[in-house]
Amino acid sequence: TVSVVLFTSDLRLHDHPPLRAALDAAEETVPLFVLDPGVEAAGFGAPNRRAFLADCLQDLDAALRDRGGRLVVRTGDPADVVREVMAATDAREVHVAAGVSGYAARREQRLRETVEAAGGLLRVHDAVVTALPPGAVTPQGSDHFAVFTPYHRRWAEQRLRGPLAAPRKVRVPRDAGSDPVPTRAAVTGVSPGLTEGGERAGRARASRWLRGHLAGYEDGHDDLPGDLTSRLSPHLHFGTLSATELVHRARKAGGPGAEAFVRQLCWRDFHHQVLAARPGAATGDYRTKHDHWRTGAGADRDVAAWKAGRTGYPAVDAAMRQLAHEGWMHNRGRLLAASFLTKTLYIDWRTGARHFLDLLVDGDLANNQLNWQWAAGTGTDTRPGRVLNPVRQGRRHDPDGVYVRRWVPELAGLTGAAVHEPWKLAASERARYDYPEPIVELADGLDRFRAARGKD
Ligand code: FAD
Repeated sequence: TVSVVLFTSDLRLHDHPPLRAALDAAEETVPLFVLDPGVEAAGFGAPNRRAFLADCLQDLDAALRDRGGRLVVRTGDPADVVREVMAATDAREVHVAAGVSGYAARREQRLRETVEAAGGLLRVHDAVVTALPPGAVTPQGSDHFAVFTPYHRRWAEQRLRGPLAAPRKVRVPRDAGSDPVPTRAAVTGVSPGLTEGGERAGRARASRWLRGHLAGYEDGHDDLPGDLTSRLSPHLHFGTLSATELVHRARKAGGPGAEAFVRQLCWRDFHHQVLAARPGAATGDYRTKHDHWRTGAGADRDVAAWKAGRTGYPAVDAAMRQLAHEGWMHNRGRLLAASFLTKTLYIDWRTGARHFLDLLVDGDLANNQLNWQWAAGTGTDTRPGRVLNPVRQGRRHDPDGVYVRRWVPELAGLTGAAVHEPWKLAASERARYDYPEPIVELADGLDRFRAARGKD
């Protein structure tokens, strides 16, 4: 007998319920990954994520080979490919993790029809992509939580399933033909500082970070130059690490750092359960409708300056340049950059979210779109009128200006916190720095924002 396990956002062997079930169900299993042109057509083929994905697939193939198997990679519509693989190998069962987006739901529907038409059985497994499946806890009278705090309370009370070990042996049928496994080298346009993908790299980083930095997470997670957060987001996005297993490992380590870290993993589940219940939140305003965004040539110029990291606000510019260089940005930088674009420049959050998705290696529909909406005041934030001041934020989270000087070398000659306000320099000194004047007065942006909100 033969079974198929279709890998999607779960590119790992550890703690993989669909793989375990597929191995238990049959003597031979096809570990299948389908490169779906539909993902690229929908605008999700960013080079940084394609490169990281190639690392993940290479690593998964190597890990399967260590266990006597291999990864089968094919290109096409996942349902069509699964039908072909079932026909070629005589497989009867197909296992897949439940997805969260509207796209994943449609894929699942097509898979079900195809597998059942071929006389097979599709099994969709929960709690593979998130720690707790969307819909596992709901408030009375609704299908999802719209506010984080009560969600977190209920989420923290739930018992998570225990993590599964990686299989020791995987037998793959000979007639399951594969295309070559993609390589990072074949992808162009990748950020120079992009991190390495794959389960082995993810597990190594997780172990190192949990051992060395978890304890300091609560105090250090907003420290921009310290860079003390886990940087596990790309691994969680591609599923090279299991969120469930991470929660268990952090709780086992214990302490306030563990609590704070697990809370962030809960934020991830929170956004996933919002998107699963309201797929339209990926593009439409979730709670507060806004349609007074600035457009036109002036707005286009401001967006271009924001993307290039040339707004004249050093903390914002540093964050945007980190994004371009690494395909990753510190959470405090993301908050600052998003607040600046939406509330100071008054540009539609979708413009910023699109740019982030084009570059972020962890670019994720649930986390990106809903965090953008949170920052823009249209989403789940209970204080949607809050505006982050880039100078005050810079002084607080980068008090000595180290982060700014790291990413904005034009200002490297300035010492200490003065780097956050180069416009305060005497004109003669100011002229020495090839760095723009602020593209907007902070007060102008706030006035515009408040006036527009008054109209909502
Ligand atoms: P850590 O601080 O170590 O946190 C551990 C994990 O918790 C993260 O890896 C992530 O999976 C999760 N997490 C942390 N903060 C959040 C959050 N606010 N919402 C949801 N999950 C969270 N995260 C993404 O994974 N993909 C995105 O596309 C994305 N876009 C964002 C856009 C904006 C405008 C903002 C403000 C935040 C965005 N985030 C996104 C959330 C957060 O910034 C990143 O998850 C975090 O910076 C990743 O770094 P880390 O792994 O070191 O985080």
